[in-house]
Amino acid sequence: MLEIFGLIMLCKANKKNALARGKKPGGFIALTIILWVGLELLGFFIGTLSEIEYGYFIFGYGFAGIGALISFLCAKFGPKGDYVDPKAQQTMDANAPVIGDYNVPVDDSAYAPAQPAAPVQQQKFCNSCGSPVPDGCKYCDKCGAPVV
Ligand SMILES: [Zn+2]
Repeated sequence: MLEIFGLIMLCKANKKNALARGKKPGGFIALTIILWVGLELLGFFIGTLSEIEYGYFIFGYGFAGIGALISFLCAKFGPKGDYVDPKAQQTMDANAPVIGDYNVPVDDSAYAPAQPAAPVQQQKFCNSCGSPVPDGCKYCDKCGAPVV
């Protein structure tokens, strides 16, 4: 488990170094894993064949370390590129000032005191004779019909 943790750490370090030089990190992560695991297996194989006591262990982890070092050096000192991390790009865009930002007219209606809504005068009319009925009256003044 410790080895997997180390491999993940190395992948992260190589990714960071690759990005710092403008290189796409995916290939370096693949390179890291292939070199580490591939050389480790090769080391185990050679160590087992060598018949040295703990040879598989010594060669296995020794080769894994060499693979790790090669991948690290490739990511750290390889040729530079112009790849930009999409995440970094988004962050820069978010912080960049927007041209024309200061020309937007200020909508000061938001600061104007709210006008109280005029009370709605719902004039009622008598259903029977059609004359206007004052608010609150239940019966028509003129014909006496009940107002609904
Ligand atoms: Zn009426």
